[in-house]
Amino acid sequence: MSFDVAAIREQFPILKRVIDGNPLVYLDNAATTQKPQCVIDALVDYYSTCNSNVHRGAHRLADEATRRFEDARDIVKNFINAPKREEVIWTTGTTEAINIVANGLGSLLSPGDEVIATGMDHHANLVTWQQACKASGATLRTIPVTDAGELDQAAYDAMLNEHTKFVAFPHVSNALGTVNPIKEMTAKAKKVGAWVLVDGAQGAAHGYADVQDIGCDFYAFSGHKIYGPMGVGVLWGKESVLSTWPVWRTGGEMISTVTLQDATWNVLPYRFEAGTPNVGDAIAMGEAIRWFSALDQDAVAAHEKALLDRATELAEEFEGLTIIGNAKEKIGVLSFVMDQGHPADIGFLLDRQGVAVRTGDHCAQPLMARFNVPGTARASFAIYNTLEEVDALFVALKKVRTMLA
Ligand code: PMP
Repeated sequence: MSFDVAAIREQFPILKRVIDGNPLVYLDNAATTQKPQCVIDALVDYYSTCNSNVHRGAHRLADEATRRFEDARDIVKNFINAPKREEVIWTTGTTEAINIVANGLGSLLSPGDEVIATGMDHHANLVTWQQACKASGATLRTIPVTDAGELDQAAYDAMLNEHTKFVAFPHVSNALGTVNPIKEMTAKAKKVGAWVLVDGAQGAAHGYADVQDIGCDFYAFSGHKIYGPMGVGVLWGKESVLSTWPVWRTGGEMISTVTLQDATWNVLPYRFEAGTPNVGDAIAMGEAIRWFSALDQDAVAAHEKALLDRATELAEEFEGLTIIGNAKEKIGVLSFVMDQGHPADIGFLLDRQGVAVRTGDHCAQPLMARFNVPGTARASFAIYNTLEEVDALFVALKKVRTMLA
């Protein structure tokens, strides 16, 4: 198999858009990726042919919807190499997945227990553990970030002890692109008996999330960052942990028996899937993963590396530009500031030229404070981006520099 970026681009209708007379250069993929036609078709086909509530129906449409919905769960299971399909919980996204774990964890923590998060966390990860610790009286510790934008492993080693109950870290930093050594970090946490959650919002999109290989207890990710729809995501959790974990939301589907005064809980995965699920989007997320997994992953990785290498090279020679985050292991993200112009101005002026980037704190305010910047401009790459688009970013940045001079 090989990698034909032109053929891939053909499958994404939105990439044909023209912005103020310029071809769209979409470099905001860490925020959300665009969707191939097959994902759009899966969604339309579901609503056009078999929309129905799942699991309880006594009719054909309900059967078909249930089959497609559960098939999508199997696709996710295989994608992340989960041992059991029951361990794959549909959520609204990474944020909800993390909140489910925090809800369970919060009730198991006591004063004296320690939770470890990181200085590069997305707020979805950091703030959620802050709240779980505040509610339970546990202590939150955070792994510092080095000048290169890596997690300080020596500091992490020194933090782990018999009080450590839980450790959470991002697979890949959304703000810097740093790929963390999640397998090694998980192994260290396991030595002290802590549970481990990996925030895979940015990791899964690059196709290397094997939960058994990582050895973690929980892995969370969102459909919309992996060429699927918004509003759907996955919490994978070990059955041995999830089946004893306190339930999250209550309602239909998650119960087994109900009396006027009490209720018992359903088995996994339904125990954590109260109410009508987002069936159409789950099916379309399954389609996105099926589509993505069918690509030659070595070729995808080589292409993404070439994009980042080119962007880094051009950024390094660009006058007045500073890259934030120079980790050895890095993927998909070029975060930068310029000596002229607030990141928001840079973003605005790039947009006038058809180049879409994100600016601001990237939901990582402590990380911005660590680098002493108000925010950054962030170009983030996906498999449909081309080297020409990377060049176009820097041509547009030259104009921004002139405009701001
Ligand atoms: N963690 C990271 C690292 C992210 O990049 C994001 C999304 N930007 C999230 C968590 C939250 O994901 P979602 O908004 O899809 O729930």
